[in-house]
Amino acid sequence: MKHYDAIIIGAGQAGTPLAKKLAEAGMKTAIIEKRMVGGTCIIDGCTPTK
Ligand SMILES: Cc1cc2nc3c(=O)[nH]c(=O)nc-3n(C[C@H](O)[C@H](O)[C@H](O)COP(=O)(O)OP(=O)(O)OC[C@H]3O[C@@H](n4cnc5c(N)ncnc54)[C@H](O)[C@@H]3O)c2cc1C
Repeated sequence: MKHYDAIIIGAGQAGTPLAKKLAEAGMKTAIIEKRMVGGTCIIDGCTPTK
């Protein structure tokens, strides 16, 4: 079994930078994304409308 200090669910605007910060702080971090990396803003919302 693998062990992590932090497991982030969702690679959107919140999850991705949080996972990066935790990893940079030395925590063994996993990020789980059910769809595509980017989240609502990149994949569905903000970018396609601008
Ligand atoms: C049409 C539209 C237009 C928008 N336009 C703007 C804008 O112009 N400017 C602005 O600032 N904001 C805009 N927003 C809001 C912006 O998209 C959100 O504020 C932002 O995406 C929230 O980030 P988040 O990381 O909390 O959630 P999200 O970006 O939604 O990320 C959540 C992630 O978690 C994943 N997930 C969910 N459940 C699970 C699970 N059980 N297991 C694994 N993964 C899971 C999802 O697939 C998703 O990738 C818009 C939103 C929409 C819908």
